[in-house]
Amino acid sequence: MNTATPPLTFKSYFGNIWTAFRTIFKGLTITTRYIVAEKPVTIEYPEVREVLPELSRSRLYNDVENCIACNQCATACPVDCIYIASTRRDKEAPKIKTKDGTPIRLNLTQYTIDTALCCYCGLCTTVCPTQSLTHTTDYEYSQYTVDEMKYNYLEEDIKAWRDRIVK
Ligand code: SF4
Ligand code: SF4
Repeated sequence: MNTATPPLTFKSYFGNIWTAFRTIFKGLTITTRYIVAEKPVTIEYPEVREVLPELSRSRLYNDVENCIACNQCATACPVDCIYIASTRRDKEAPKIKTKDGTPIRLNLTQYTIDTALCCYCGLCTTVCPTQSLTHTTDYEYSQYTVDEMKYNYLEEDIKAWRDRIVK
C-alpha cells in the first residue's frame, strides 16, 4: 500500500491556506452569533434554579401522618426499595384517621425509601390509597455516599426538607 504524502504543489499550498482561513471564519461566525444574538441555554445554578413541571416524578415524599402502613407501595415497587415497619395500634388507643377519613389501625415505625435504587416509575404513588405518598419536583438531594440516599420519612430532617419545598 502506498502511504506517501502527495507532493506539495503551488495550488495545494495556497488551497490549504484558503481552507484554514475559511474554516476559522466559519467557526468564529457561529461563536459570534451565540455571543451576540442567541439566548443562553445554560443557567447560573445554584443562583438560578430550574423549576420542574408540576407533574414531574422527582423525589418522593410520604406524608406519614396520612400513611396507614398498608404496604401497597412496597408491593408495587419493581425494585423493592421501600422498607416499611409497623405495629398494631392498641385497642384502647384513641381512634385516628387520615385526612381522607381512612382509619389508621397500625403505628408506622419505619418508612424508608432507598432513592439510590428508585427508578421514579411512579407505581408506588399510583397505588397509595390515602395519597400520602407523592412525587415532588425537588431534584436537589444528592449525597456523598449511597447509604445516605436512604431516607426515613419519620425523621425530623425530612420534615424540614418538606417545609423547604412546599410553600
Ligand atoms: S417510584 Fe417506582 S421505583 Fe421508586 S419507590 Fe416508587 S415504585 Fe419504587
Ligand atoms: S401505599 Fe400509601 S398508605 Fe400504604 S404504606 Fe404506602 S404510603 Fe402508606
